[in-house]
Amino acid sequence: MAEKLEQLYEGKAKKVYKTDDENLYIVSYKDDATAFNGKKKGTISGKGVVNNKMSNYLMRKLQEEAGIPTHFVEELSDRDTLVKRVSIVPLEVIVRNIAAGSFSKRFGVPEGTNLLCPTLEYCYKSDELDDPMCNSYHILACGWATKEELDTIADYTFRINAYLKAFFKKLNIDLVDFKIEFGRTPDGTIILADEISPDTCRFWDSETHEKLDKDRFRRDLGHVEDAYREMMKRIFGE
Ligand code: UDP
Repeated sequence: MAEKLEQLYEGKAKKVYKTDDENLYIVSYKDDATAFNGKKKGTISGKGVVNNKMSNYLMRKLQEEAGIPTHFVEELSDRDTLVKRVSIVPLEVIVRNIAAGSFSKRFGVPEGTNLLCPTLEYCYKSDELDDPMCNSYHILACGWATKEELDTIADYTFRINAYLKAFFKKLNIDLVDFKIEFGRTPDGTIILADEISPDTCRFWDSETHEKLDKDRFRRDLGHVEDAYREMMKRIFGE
């Protein structure tokens, strides 16, 4: 089994390690939680396990059933996963089906409004700049991705949304919005990387509209751990 060697990076919610294969890394999910670009900090007990297992499950499904290439290789333990080495495209790719969060604030559209079609937004990943929103012209002009890469990213992203929206609907959950990230493998192929979890998606119960995601932490709604556990239960059963 692959083993962790030198730690390469420690992010807000994950650590990344080298392995003895130069093309494979191990990501290790933590219980640390941050919001508002790190200004709010806390711990969500058991979150790392939920995010690891949920992300791996969804990436495997996306790969096998929707033909989306991903970084997922093998789940090594509750918190550790073997992934392909990529360099991350410095963009947060955000899809929205229902208005919430910064979209509602920016455009004055009340939270919960069904959007007439899914929207796609990009933010430039930069802690110093607070991840500013940008468009495809900014991305090409600054060289954050090429035209071909951006076309691939947009195509994959809408396919991922269609797949996930239908998947969660069967679990009685509305996929309100989510953020994904892509990476380039050493040969330049674009693949889905990072994670898909309650940290990076908004999940609302279809009937009660109860929030089952990190908004419980961001907005001090309580029962944060319960929400992560509930998502786990809906996907994997008891
Ligand atoms: N999101 C994320 N990381 C970020 C910003 C947003 O994972 O740094 C996710 C967030 O969980 C939500 C979606 O992207 O599912 C849209 O977030 P929004 O722009 O509304 O920002 P927020 O209100 O979370 O600050």
